[in-house]
Amino acid sequence: MWVLLGVLLGVALTLGLLMAAQGRFGRVGRRRQRDRLTGLLLARRFEDEFAATLDGLQRREGKGCLLYIGLDGFRLVNDEHGKEFGDHLLVRTAERLRQIGGKKALVGRLAGDEFALWSEVPPAQTDALVRQVLEGLGAAALIGTTPLRVGLSVGVAMSPEHGSSIRLIRRAQTAMRSVKRLGGNGHAFFDAVQEEELREELTLARELRESIKNKELELVYQPKMNAQTLQVTAVEALLRWRHPTLGMVSPSRFIPIAERYGVIDAIGDWVADTALAQAARWREMGLRMRVAINVSGYQMRSDDFIVRLEKGLKKHRLRPERFTVEITESVAMEHATVTGRAFKRLGALGVHISIDDFGTGYSSLASLRQLPAQELKIDSSFVADVATSVEAQAIVRAVIEMARVLQLKVVAEGVETPAQRDQLVAMGCDELQGYLFAKPMSALAIEILASDSGKAAGGQTTEGFRPSIFVETAAVPLDVARH
Ligand code: C2E
Ligand code: CA
Ligand code: CA
Repeated sequence: MWVLLGVLLGVALTLGLLMAAQGRFGRVGRRRQRDRLTGLLLARRFEDEFAATLDGLQRREGKGCLLYIGLDGFRLVNDEHGKEFGDHLLVRTAERLRQIGGKKALVGRLAGDEFALWSEVPPAQTDALVRQVLEGLGAAALIGTTPLRVGLSVGVAMSPEHGSSIRLIRRAQTAMRSVKRLGGNGHAFFDAVQEEELREELTLARELRESIKNKELELVYQPKMNAQTLQVTAVEALLRWRHPTLGMVSPSRFIPIAERYGVIDAIGDWVADTALAQAARWREMGLRMRVAINVSGYQMRSDDFIVRLEKGLKKHRLRPERFTVEITESVAMEHATVTGRAFKRLGALGVHISIDDFGTGYSSLASLRQLPAQELKIDSSFVADVATSVEAQAIVRAVIEMARVLQLKVVAEGVETPAQRDQLVAMGCDELQGYLFAKPMSALAIEILASDSGKAAGGQTTEGFRPSIFVETAAVPLDVARH
């Protein structure tokens, strides 16, 4: 009797477990097939069907191409217009892809904002298909009645040239990433160089994640000089990565990678913390100059960044107006609500705001007026030509006039020659920065520069250190500062 009961209980338990398991896995199994939102095949299922399709194709010795399609700046669209709108955009994109591909095409949603389209078109028609996708999807959704232009990055791999199904997917994706790397909104056919570049990029991203912990990051500081007196008024912190085998890696190389692979928040926080601590130390030494940091568009879109900056300013008891945040003109002019909000918050925080690389974007007087900025930095490309090109002179003159109207200070960056300096001073630039005066240098070198110049100027010293040279003495001798 007890034995029978035990067996029954056991059977019931096993059945129950089996049913529960089946229910769960059954659901997962189904969920894996098709995307609920767009109805497209999800990655796993797409891969399976694609493998079968290619098998058939190869038997027939047919040809075709796989397009790997990424929406540019989808996160921005989501932040700006809300998740619902983002979903709407994805649904419209899926519909268009189905239409363009026709009945025989295979279409999948392989990741959040990434799609794949396989089409059995002859090689000669691949270009036309790509064009159709780029044009047909460029404005895939409406905000009210206005179409929203979304950029697309399309990577193309061909069969049979580019291998088996999984390889073809990876290679089309690699080609798409190379389009993104160059700024997006375009297409590229796969080639082996991209694969190598991607491998390097993934390695750098992985190493970059470890760089803070491994103490491989450093800040160097480049002075900004008063154009009339050549006194140092500020220093700009520039990031350096001392890579164990590659040596110094330029921020122009690794900042975009940090942004693409989600490492920028950690790095940006490290930069702000380090620069704030350094500013506090300099203030204690009596050096009265602003300290500037560079902030990328990604950081401006992260709520956390400004909160942490505010905390840092408080922790180091620094006056916000003595701390500069440099933001490029293109980010300032994004007209995105998120970026606009970040500007307002930075303005409310009271930090000094500088618009970097000015002249390369499309600012208008009206849009600039709305920003809580105090400084414009004329892009080095105009400075490079200012002594020789009438056009560059006209641009610099226009920027200076615009700044006057808005009561903004004008800084010229990348000043390398006395001729450029003279021209800029004559035009009325307020501050100058560039190799002619000083290259970016370590914090210690800044202090040595301060104390040496102080001695050279013959002024008082405080404990072997003359605190006031950066605001009170005359020029840092140019021939000394040049190296
Ligand atoms: P940027 O903010 O426009 O910085 C100016 C760049 O020009 C710096 O390059 C600087 O070393 C260089 N430079 C200064 N004077 C001269 C000159 O007279 N001639 C020439 N040819 N170059 C000069 P760097 O340090 O390689 O930085 C490149 C860019 O990387 C920066 O451009 C900035 O956009 C970004 N960056 C640097 N540090 C950071 C950081 O901490 N955070 C973020 N988000 N971006 C950073
Ligand atoms: Ca800058
Ligand atoms: Ca700049």
